[in-house]
Parts: sequence; structure tokens; C-alpha cells
Amino acid sequence: MTNNQKLTDRTLLGTPGAGGRGLGRPKVLHTEETVVRPEKIDDSDIQKEVELTERGIEALVHEFENLKKLNDESDVREIIDSQIEVVRDPELNRRIRKRIKEDHDSSVYAVFSSFNDYINVLESSDTDWLNERSIDIVSIRDQLIDVIRNQRPDELNADNAVIFAAELSPTEMIRLSHYNLAGIITEKGGLTSHVVILAQSLGIPCVIGVDWKKMHPQRFHTVMIDGDVGSVLFDPTEELLEEFEQYKERQRRKKEIALKWASKPSKTNCGKPFTIRGNIEFASELPKLATHGASGVGLLRTETVLFETKDFDVDAQVQFYRQVAEASDGAPVVIRLFDAGGDKLPDNHEKEDNPFLGWRGIRMLLDKPDLLRQQYEAILRVSAEFPGKIKILAPMISQIEEIDESKRILDEVKQRLQTNDVSFNEEVPFGIMIEVPGIAVMASEAAKKVDFFSIGTNDLTQYMLAVDRGNSKISKLYQPAHPSIWRIIQSVIDVSEKEEIPISVCGEMAANPLYAACFLGMGLNDLSMTTSSIPAVKSVLCSHNLSQFQSLAGEVAGAATYQQVESIFNKWQKTLSHKQV
Ligand code: PEP
Ligand code: MG
Repeated sequence: MTNNQKLTDRTLLGTPGAGGRGLGRPKVLHTEETVVRPEKIDDSDIQKEVELTERGIEALVHEFENLKKLNDESDVREIIDSQIEVVRDPELNRRIRKRIKEDHDSSVYAVFSSFNDYINVLESSDTDWLNERSIDIVSIRDQLIDVIRNQRPDELNADNAVIFAAELSPTEMIRLSHYNLAGIITEKGGLTSHVVILAQSLGIPCVIGVDWKKMHPQRFHTVMIDGDVGSVLFDPTEELLEEFEQYKERQRRKKEIALKWASKPSKTNCGKPFTIRGNIEFASELPKLATHGASGVGLLRTETVLFETKDFDVDAQVQFYRQVAEASDGAPVVIRLFDAGGDKLPDNHEKEDNPFLGWRGIRMLLDKPDLLRQQYEAILRVSAEFPGKIKILAPMISQIEEIDESKRILDEVKQRLQTNDVSFNEEVPFGIMIEVPGIAVMASEAAKKVDFFSIGTNDLTQYMLAVDRGNSKISKLYQPAHPSIWRIIQSVIDVSEKEEIPISVCGEMAANPLYAACFLGMGLNDLSMTTSSIPAVKSVLCSHNLSQFQSLAGEVAGAATYQQVESIFNKWQKTLSHKQV
């Protein structure tokens, strides 16, 4: 919140999620399940109800066609085409008409029950892809019902909107990522919940843990969101609007300066080289690798694409990975195996009591070896096109046996490809995420079996401190800079030095310039982060000497409490000097 912005009855506060300020119209996303009660009609209404359905179908198709025009990405267009196909499905339409004409069902109920028959078949199928398809059909059903009822929420018209939601699934975030959003406000979610990470990658201001329903946001014309301080202000005054314009201008200038760092060599002031890579989730982020100065991709999160593209088969994966490798312009790309689970769930994922302690990452992949085999095949095929540049990263490893089994399946896929004369890099490096304390403690043993480590501080923090990263109630206990986290990371860095295997950090801690400085001081000089954070991190790392980072790391290593660590960083923050670029 700005200095002159007073807390008023039009202000709400929450937890800052993704930084920056935004101004837009409020848009509430309805997430309630559609329920339709049976309703019978008279003979005289049959024709009218049939026409209502037909007009609804055409209106929805028209909406989808318009959405297609807004999207250039071929995979998104394919999804929209498949939605149009469902709406126009002749068999489904025949059933709807039959229900109206013969069973005297209202148009809305005929649509609801006919779609449900279809959904039930998909849900009872043994095939996962068909199962997962049902979520799309539910969404199309609800959209068609809304159109027929003339209650269509202008959900697809999200440009310049500040989104209000209870929470957002990755699928919803993907859908929203195609719009130019002014901000995101959610009731639930924690600081490293997926919605926050996605908002950060997309550069959308985000505030979480906001009790917004009581305000009925639709009543207001505009909302101003401040993702740095966590404030939400409805219908701001003229003065604040003017101040917002000045803020935008300041940001534009800051960005210009920060981006200059992007092209500077990655070396500390005393000449010690380091590496900064980008964390990527969406193809739309790829141009930022070059503009923000990333040396390739240190973490390619593949699960978002898996959810977006229902038929994410080997060819589709090859295309995506190739696109990422091309954008990396000769620099390495670390492709992480699907890390579905936790808060990265397709909408129809079976609910678990403790999803973050549940069927997630490698656990799910080893239970679904066909999915893993497909992903390995795609990665291996791309590895032949970019020799020495493609690496495989396994998420959520907690046991040595999981490493053995993952590598066994990788060898099996390699053998099959060899038999079929498909070329690939036989030496493609296989690394693991260090994000579960159990494997961090066993790092010496793990190091003997893998080619590299990548520290996932987002999960490591939640598992070390027993704090759900998505739970806003305990978000103040989610402390990545807790002394225990620094200590465990130092122990893994020591192992990697002893065992001579490369190590990097790809969790959000790397995106904090002060923490990045501490990592360098601890002996870890390969960092991967959301591309938008790279210039700010680089500006700090390039303008100081390694010895300064080492003394910072030494102080942090001696801290016993979180407060002590915080005050060390606060003190350090004040002494930062930025060389002019
Ligand atoms: C992490 O846990 O730090 C990480 C990088 O993975 P994700 O945030 O995707 O779980
Ligand atoms: Mg993780």
C-alpha cells in the first residue's frame, strides 16, 4: 500500500503473493458445482425448448471460435477445437433432443442429464486419459447450461480484470494465463502454492488469504491490487489513480535499468563466475529467457502442459521440449519429470487427505510407468537434437530405491529406442530434486547414483518445518530462511563438493537476491529462478565480491533463530551497493 493510502472500509488486506500493482475491473470466478433439478415441460413447449438448446449450442460454438481467434498457440487452439467437437457431437445432441421430445425434460435438464451419461462413462473407464477428459466435459456442460439459461458469465473476458476466486487450480490458471490480467486475489493458498508461483512467472500481482466475499466485489468499478504489501482497494480515489500512473512510469524505468543487467556477464565484482537459469512453465515465457539473461532452463515444469493438453503424447512432448531447447539457444535445459500432485493437480484428481504428503511426483510416475516411459522417450528423442544439452530431473525423490527404479525404467526405454533405431544421447544426465529432508540426509548415497542435484527449496521448506506451503493460516511459519533450511542446504552442498557432482537451486529462494548472495557464499553458484527475477538477482551478485557473500553465509550459518537470520539479511540489505550498469 502506498504511504498516503489509508486503510478504509473499501480496503482488504491479505498476504502478498506475487509483487507489483495492478488496476482493473473486479471479476469473480464462480467455482460452485452446477446443480440442475429435473423439470418437466408440456407438449406445447417442446419446440421452444428444442430451439433453445440449438441456439445455445450455436452461441457457445461462436464463443469458442472467438476464443480461438485470441490464441496463437496451436495446442490451445486444438483444445478449443475439441471443445467445439463435444458441443456439436451428433450423438449427444440426438440424446438431448430425445429427452426433450420423448421424456418431456426441460432443455436445461436434458443437457445436464445427457452430458452426465457421457461423463459417467468416461469416469468409469479404466483409461486415465478418458477419466481426465471428463473434467472438460463437465466444464462444457456447465457452459452450455449457462448459455441456455442466459446466465453466461463473461468468464472468458478477463482482460484487464482483477480476478477474485476462492482458489485457482493450475488448469484455471492456464486458462487465465491467456488474458492480460491486472491481478489475482484468492481466499486460500500459501506463498509457494502453485497459483502464486504461476502468478510470479506470469508477472501478475497476486494477494492470497483475502476474505473478499463479504465485499461483493462486483459492486465496484475498479480494484487496485498491491501484490507487494498485500492490499486490495475498491474504487480508489482520483489521487490514488494518479499515483498509480506515476507508479507505472517508475516501474517502466526500473525495468529498463534492470534489464540492462540481463546482458552483463554473470560474474561477481571480483570475477567469480556464476550461472543463472530460468524456471519455465509456459511456452509463452520462453522469449524472456533471452531478454532477462537466462543461461538456459534450470527447471522446466512439465505438469502444467500435461494438464493443458489432454493428449500430451510423445509427439506433443517432443515438440514442446524442442521449442524450449530452441529458445535456450545452445544452453542446457533441465526437464523435470511430471510433478503432478500436491497443489499441482488436474481438476479431476482424486482428493487425498494430505496431498503434499501423498501421491505426488515420482511416486505417481512409478505407479504409472507408461506415463513415465512416454516422457522418457520424448526427452530422449529431443536429446539427440541438442547434444549434451538436455538433462532429466526427477521430483519428490524420498528413497534411494526410487532412484534405482526410475533409472531402471530409463534404461529400459533407452534399450527399446536402440532396438528401433531411434537416436538419443546415451549419456543424458539424470538428476534428482533435493526437496524431501529424507533424501537430503542421504545425499552421499544418492550422489553416487545420480548426475546432479537440484535443491527445491519450496518443498524442502514445507517438509522440513512441517508447514503446508499452501495453507494461508500458517503462512507466517513458512520460513525458507529458517536456520535449519540453511543448514541442511549447506550439508548437501558439502556432499556435492565431496562427491563432485553439480548442484543447483531451483526453488523460489534463488529468486531472492539476498538469499542468492548467501548461496554463492556457501559455495553454490548455479541458480534457477522465475525469469522476471533474474535482473534483480544479477544486479546484486555482479556488484559485490565473493568474500562479502562468504561473510554473509558465515553469519547465517551461526544463527540459531529465524529472527536472527532475518536481522542479518536486513542489515545486509542496507549495505547493498549497486554498481551503475
Ligand atoms: C521446489 O519444490 O522448490 C520446486 C522448485 O518445485 P515445485 O515448486 O514445482 O514443487
Ligand atoms: Mg517441489
